Amino acid sequence: QAFSSMNLSRPILKGLASLGFVKPTDIQARTIPVALLGKDICGGAVTGSGKTAAFIVPILERLLYRPRQTASTRVLILCPTRELAAQVHSVAVKLGSYTDISFCLCVGGLSVKSQEAELKMKPDVVVATPGRLIDHVRNSTGFGLDSCEILVMDEADRMLEDGFADELGEIIKSCPKSRQTMLFSATMTDNVDQLIRMSLNHPVRLFV
Ligand code: AMP
Repeated sequence: QAFSSMNLSRPILKGLASLGFVKPTDIQARTIPVALLGKDICGGAVTGSGKTAAFIVPILERLLYRPRQTASTRVLILCPTRELAAQVHSVAVKLGSYTDISFCLCVGGLSVKSQEAELKMKPDVVVATPGRLIDHVRNSTGFGLDSCEILVMDEADRMLEDGFADELGEIIKSCPKSRQTMLFSATMTDNVDQLIRMSLNHPVRLFV
């Protein structure tokens, strides 16, 4: 099976081709069709499995399918570290390069002021670390998550290990209940399980 037989739109197929991705990896083949249906997903997947594109592809596809009504941030992707967030952001920008979807990287170490200005432009997709994002949510100067349609928690076990449980809880509460949520974790600890129960709605569980 190839990406071209997965019912994806042309701009997304072009983005995949530009990265040299022809055939989906196992996690991609299993996640993309389920995510396209709008279902919540709990994925047991490690780095190296191709999980980044597994959630980015259906996100971009859904954004294209349902054009936005007013300018607002529609997708939030949370990652445990700056480096990981930067990687995910870079893959998202590349996969979305044949669309007009806008992206913003929101992590510590970058200027808060310039990020604030970027967030004010209401980028469609924000890739962030929980610590930096919560600053923007709390000191809101026009940025909010009330239009967030899709929330992704990548490497959830690491975010919890790093002590971000409270931030995650607050961020989740700031998103509409009607959102789609995808959570990925290499390990399934009690804490991850608790996070799953508080944030996912009848999730489809996928393990590779
Ligand atoms: P990830 O687990 O998302 O960090 O991806 C691991 C590596 O696999 C990255 O270097 C990706 O560029 C690569 N990769 C992801 N999906 C595919 C694919 N469908 N075909 C070829 N390489 C891929």
